[in-house]
Amino acid sequence: MRLIPIVPTSGLYLTAWGHCDDARFAEQFRLAWKQIPMRCRKAIVAHWLLWGKVTGNRKGAAPFLEVLPYKSDWERGPSRYAVAQCSQGGNSLSWNSGFVDALPDEHLRCFIAHELAHVFLFATDPTHFADGDYEVAELQVFQTLEAWGFDESAREEWEMWNEEKLPTRATED
Ligand SMILES: [Zn+2]
Repeated sequence: MRLIPIVPTSGLYLTAWGHCDDARFAEQFRLAWKQIPMRCRKAIVAHWLLWGKVTGNRKGAAPFLEVLPYKSDWERGPSRYAVAQCSQGGNSLSWNSGFVDALPDEHLRCFIAHELAHVFLFATDPTHFADGDYEVAELQVFQTLEAWGFDESAREEWEMWNEEKLPTRATED
């Protein structure tokens, strides 16, 4: 394992396990991050800093970011099994390695930003996921991504037409 700096000034480092092209993931993460409006980035970083203080974990000021093969505890999304996860109130984010490597850059940035949108919503909207309602939460994420200029519909369409390039639960290592 090694840490790859993404945006060190915002506490962003990838915990790189070698399950995907980590350098490419870090670079696309950097671009996705820069596409998010500054006031939203600030709200996200403030959320991570607060979590670091609350937990007393100084390293908690930085979120935990990783790319993994399919994880058995990833929860099921509204339409298909989850391929990324935002946990610990938005302080631990993980993405499926098979999806990361298969998605073209533009859609990978959207895939990354999807989890950051959850963090932003956790930071700014106490109702986000409060009742465990996936569909409402995902709709909020969709709208947030649209406001940030990411096209989730285009990513979903690409995934629909390129299913054979994407891992399935059965074939995932
Ligand atoms: Zn989501």
